[in-house]
Amino acid sequence: MMEICPKEQCASCYACLNACPTASIQLQEDERGCLYPVVNQSSCIDCGLCQKVCPVCQPPTLHSCKESYIAYAANHREQQTAASGGLAAVLSRHVVRHGGVVYGASAVDAFNVQHVRVDKEADLEQLKGSKYVHSKIGVLLKTLKEDLQAGRDVIFVGTPCQVAGVRGFLRKDYPNFFALDLVCHGVPPQKVLNSAIAYYCGDETSRVKSVRFRRKEEGQHSIYGLYCDDAGGQLVYGDDHPQQHYALGFMAAMFYRPNCHTCPYACPDRVGDITLGDFWDRDGKAALPAQKTDGISMLIVNTERGKKLMADVRNEIVCVEHPYTDFTRRNGQLTHPMRRHASSENFWKSFVAGGFAATESILAKHEKLVRKNILKKKIKRAIYTIPFLEKLLLMIFHKS
Ligand SMILES: Cc1cc2nc3c(=O)[nH]c(=O)nc-3n(C[C@H](O)[C@H](O)[C@H](O)COP(=O)(O)OP(=O)(O)OC[C@H]3O[C@@H](n4cnc5c(N)ncnc54)[C@H](O)[C@@H]3O)c2cc1C
Ligand code: SF4
Ligand code: SF4
Ligand code: SF4
Repeated sequence: MMEICPKEQCASCYACLNACPTASIQLQEDERGCLYPVVNQSSCIDCGLCQKVCPVCQPPTLHSCKESYIAYAANHREQQTAASGGLAAVLSRHVVRHGGVVYGASAVDAFNVQHVRVDKEADLEQLKGSKYVHSKIGVLLKTLKEDLQAGRDVIFVGTPCQVAGVRGFLRKDYPNFFALDLVCHGVPPQKVLNSAIAYYCGDETSRVKSVRFRRKEEGQHSIYGLYCDDAGGQLVYGDDHPQQHYALGFMAAMFYRPNCHTCPYACPDRVGDITLGDFWDRDGKAALPAQKTDGISMLIVNTERGKKLMADVRNEIVCVEHPYTDFTRRNGQLTHPMRRHASSENFWKSFVAGGFAATESILAKHEKLVRKNILKKKIKRAIYTIPFLEKLLLMIFHKS
C-alpha cells in the first residue's frame, strides 16, 4: 500500500493511523510542515483497513440543518473567556458533569497544539478558545473508542474533517457519541506557527508556554491576533490583526494545508450533530438581549442527537431562532472553501527558504491592502449613519 488517499485531499485526521492493526502508519511532515501518512511497507499486511476508515475514500453522511440559533453562554464568564459565545464550553461542561468525557484541542503547549481527553471540569479551561493551527489527534481515537465502549458519553469538538475522521474510525454509530464541528476557514501547519512565535518572541521564545489567537475586552467583539503567554499566564508577546502578520496571513488564507482549499465540508450540510461558528452582528440588529458584543455564535443543530443535547443545556444558554439561510448568506465557509491567497505560493517559497522572518515583505504588502479596505469600510459606514445621505444614495443607486 503506497498511498491511502490522494495526498492533496488528505486532512491529516489520523483515522488511518489509529485503525492500522500493525502500527505501520506514521504521519510525517513535508517541507512546509504539513503532516501526511507514510506506510511502512515491510510491516503492512495489505488489509485495507486504513482506506475503509479514511473519510476521503469513504465520505461521511452529512446532515441538513434542523434548527438554527444565534446564541451565547448565559454565564457571562463562560462567554467572556471563550473565542465566541462560549457554547462549546457549555456543552462540554454538561457532558463532563454527567460523567462523560470531552475530546478537544489544547494549546497548553504552544509549540504542539493537540487534542486531549478531559474528564474533569477543572481541566476544561484549556479547551477554550480557537487555536488557528492544525491540532494533532495522535493515537487518541483508540481511547475515545474505549470510552464509548465503556458506556460513557463522549463529546468530540473539532474541525469538520477531524469529526469526519472520528466517524470513519468508529465505523458505526454509538448512541453515546456527540460530535461538534466548527465552521472552518482552514488550518496552517504547526511549523508556521512555531516559526512565527520564534520570530516575534526572539530571545524570549523559551518562556512561551501557551498561545491564544483572539482576545476580548469587556463589552467588545473579540479581536484577532497572536498572544503568547508564559507559564504564569503573563504575556510574553502579543499584537492584533492586521499588524500581527500570523493573524493576517491566517485570515487571508496565505498558509493553510492544501486540502483546505477544496474542503468538502465547507457547505451547508454538516458532519457534526451540532455546528458552532461566529455570528458577527456588525450592524447591531440581531434580536438578542444583553452581552451581544462579548461574543455571539451561530448554533446549528443537525441531528436528533444534537436536538437532545441542545435541549439538555437550554437553560444554560441565551438563544433566539435565526434563519439558516441568513447564516449561509453571511458566513462564506458554510457554502464554499476559502480561496488560496494570490501570494500563497510566494509565501511558501520564502517560508521554506528562510522561515517566517523571510515572508515579512509579502505579508507587509498584504497588510497595506487590508488597511486600505478597513478605511474604505469605515468611510462607507460613516456615510450610511447620516440618514438623509443614506436615502439620497439609495435613490441614486436605485435610479442607475
Ligand atoms: C481553525 C479554526 C477555524 C475557524 N474558522 C471559522 C470561520 O471561518 N468562521 C466561523 O464562523 N467560525 C470559525 N471557527 C469557529 C470559531 O472560531 C469558534 O470556535 C466557534 O464559534 C465556537 O466558539 P465557542 O466560543 O463556542 O468555543 P471556543 O471557546 O472557541 O472553543 C472552541 C472549541 O473548539 C476546539 N478547537 C479549538 N481550536 C481547534 C483546532 N485548531 N482544531 C480543532 N478544534 C479546535 C476546542 O476543542 C474547543 O472545544 C474556526 C475555528 C477554528 C478552530
Ligand atoms: S493496509 Fe492495513 S496494515 Fe497496511 S497500512 Fe493500511 S491498515 Fe495498516
Ligand atoms: S484517514 Fe485521514 S490522515 Fe489518513 S489518509 Fe485519510 S485523510 Fe489522510
Ligand atoms: S477547511 Fe476543511 S479540511 Fe481544512 S481544516 Fe477546516 S474542515 Fe479541515
